[in-house]
Amino acid sequence: MEREILGDLERYDRQIRIIGIQGQAKLSKTSVLVAGVGGLGCVASTYLAAAGVGKIILVDKGRIEKSNLNRQILYSEKDIEKFKAQVAAEKLRKLNSEIEIEGIVAEINDKNAMELIKKVDIVIDGMDNYRGRFSLNRACIKLNKIFIHGAVHGLFGQLMVIAPNKGPCLQCVIPKEPPQIDIIPIIGVIPAIIASLEVLEAIKIITGIGEPTIGKMIFFDGETMKIHEIKVSKKDDCPICGKIG
Ligand SMILES: [Zn+2]
Repeated sequence: MEREILGDLERYDRQIRIIGIQGQAKLSKTSVLVAGVGGLGCVASTYLAAAGVGKIILVDKGRIEKSNLNRQILYSEKDIEKFKAQVAAEKLRKLNSEIEIEGIVAEINDKNAMELIKKVDIVIDGMDNYRGRFSLNRACIKLNKIFIHGAVHGLFGQLMVIAPNKGPCLQCVIPKEPPQIDIIPIIGVIPAIIASLEVLEAIKIITGIGEPTIGKMIFFDGETMKIHEIKVSKKDDCPICGKIG
């Protein structure tokens, strides 16, 4: 039965040895929104598509610039000036024609976040600003969707899984919007590392293997090659998920 739904399984052979055919079927039935198709989103969406996640929605308002090419690996020189969401969707369809991929040119904000997120099961943070992240966090808590947060700067990155009702939300940990940085200095592999971890968390949650990083923020330090973990807890007075206020 599952085989009929999944079609040719050769592509997924190596991962089926870990997650089983049932796990693969779960991936094929899951929809994920990749919020931002920059350094994080390019890598996250590539691995989601490669893994056979059934539906991927890519949202980004931006056009490709030359300075993106040190890290945004779905784009080539000839793509400069084109919309990221559209080029990324096109490239990913070539990687995996058996799944559904949608590219939406839009800026994620409080007005459209709910509408975008209600169609999916999981949201992956590929944003470069906290205003957008806070909109996603709020909408995910309201709609009871998993939000996998990732952020990068320089040689550093952070990761946290937000599972409504199971652990803290992003604003329990970062209550106020940090100042917006116009140009984030970055070594290209750092978003690749964090985005890979975001997809690993998504695959674990969807297929039920391992233990997701709920209730802890993971910090990756590329300077010393160390990973730190900080336990974080839900705040009763959190304006987004708290009981009070
Ligand atoms: Zn909260």
